[in-house]
Amino acid sequence: MDQRLLRAAWLSAFGLIVGAPSLAWLTIAPVEPLWDHLSVVTGLLALSALVCAAVLPSRLRSLNRAFGIESVIDVHRFLGIVAAALVFVHLACVIAADPANVALLDFETAPKRAQAATGATVALAVLAVLAVLRGRTRLTYELWRWLHVVLAVIVLVLSALHVWWLDHLVAEPTLGTLFGLLAALVVGTFGYRWAWRPMFDASTEFLVREVRRENATVSTLVLEPRRRHGRVNTWAFAPGQFAWIRLDRSVTAEEHPFTIASSAHLDTTEFTIRHAGDFTRALRRLPPGAPVWVDGPHGAFTNDVGAGAGFVMIAGGVGVTPMMSMLRTAAHRGDPRPYRLVVVAGSPEDLLFRDELAELRFQIDLVVTEVLRRPLDGWYGHTGDINAGLLSMVLADAGHLDEVDYFICGPSSLVTDVLSALDVLGVAPARVHTEQFDFV
Ligand SMILES: Cc1cc2nc3c(=O)[nH]c(=O)nc-3n(C[C@H](O)[C@H](O)[C@H](O)COP(=O)(O)OP(=O)(O)OC[C@H]3O[C@@H](n4cnc5c(N)ncnc54)[C@H](O)[C@@H]3O)c2cc1C
Repeated sequence: MDQRLLRAAWLSAFGLIVGAPSLAWLTIAPVEPLWDHLSVVTGLLALSALVCAAVLPSRLRSLNRAFGIESVIDVHRFLGIVAAALVFVHLACVIAADPANVALLDFETAPKRAQAATGATVALAVLAVLAVLRGRTRLTYELWRWLHVVLAVIVLVLSALHVWWLDHLVAEPTLGTLFGLLAALVVGTFGYRWAWRPMFDASTEFLVREVRRENATVSTLVLEPRRRHGRVNTWAFAPGQFAWIRLDRSVTAEEHPFTIASSAHLDTTEFTIRHAGDFTRALRRLPPGAPVWVDGPHGAFTNDVGAGAGFVMIAGGVGVTPMMSMLRTAAHRGDPRPYRLVVVAGSPEDLLFRDELAELRFQIDLVVTEVLRRPLDGWYGHTGDINAGLLSMVLADAGHLDEVDYFICGPSSLVTDVLSALDVLGVAPARVHTEQFDFV
């Protein structure tokens, strides 16, 4: 489906989830005091925001393809905060409607519906604090992620019980049907994300063909889809997309995201991986034939959408992987459009795929500009930060500024530098695409 149509479809779906319960309530609500009215509307809006926040990070490929993983996670965070704020406004309205309702906060004496609401609110507050402090806690990513998921499930289950025990809302036919649909949506999405994809979906199974060393800290994992009963898995991706890799068919198996580095037109799929910690080091040791599970493709960091007249790509370190997929695919397709690649690295050894990029220059209209972060004896190329001066030189023969698409991938400092340089050059933000390898 066309990218704009896909976006419109998803936006309408989320608009419906957010708006339907409170609109339904407003049309059927009895005449009652303002605070009572507000308490129900804010509660319903909080519930809708929670449902959307739960659905967003559930690895729905068409959603990630429509908006890109960074935007999806940003909106997930935003809706989580909005839901938490609405819960507190809801509580304030309940007390404003009748100050005696403050007794509902006494967990021991409160009725079940209020106990469920208090439990959900506490879990949501802990969830929000953990999410905000993610980078500052000493928790490993895996432990943090499991805490996040378990707390989210507690919030959703207790919120559902709160609504169920409130009774009068569920008993109303239109609202009751809407609650049932929301519950089915959450259960269906969680079932897809946490049961079907990790444990049963045969299309996620791949085998290691080889692990190729690129330099002392980077290797390329070459995978082929597993054949089952003589049939090979179908696997298609757009150059620049990424996937989550697992080494076990289990819901609890650790999984990490990596960008597909190979051409979209090969039988094998390659991931070029910097060995940052335990998981990435384990990937380096995989023997040929070892099974690997790949959940993807995801993301919208690709030049396959839109009709850019040319492409300017700026990559830091291993952030060159999505650019390699786009360039390799362009070579396969005989794409005549200009490609300008700026690669930034700490040392010449960290400049990946130099030989292959030199060859690609004969196959497509490609110019590569190498930049080292700091000056080095014997290095006569560019050094230092990426700025407007360097980019305007790169852009000189890349086509008209407004018709070129820009792709930036690398550490956040590089992305920030490039964004401000492109801003100085007057590049339209709609033409700029970014991907960072630390969206969590
Ligand atoms: C969209 C995307 C694409 C990526 N593509 C590539 C690529 O092509 N090549 C490459 O080398 N790296 C890529 N990364 C980064 C890669 O996912 C991390 O380096 C890897 O997960 C580190 O795992 P580790 O256990 O070896 O190291 P650790 O030392 O455990 O982790 C290093 C850091 O990686 C991040 N991280 C750890 N686990 C996860 C996880 N499960 N999910 C997300 N982030 C995590 C955390 O911020 C952590 O601080 C990508 C990341 C994202 C988000």
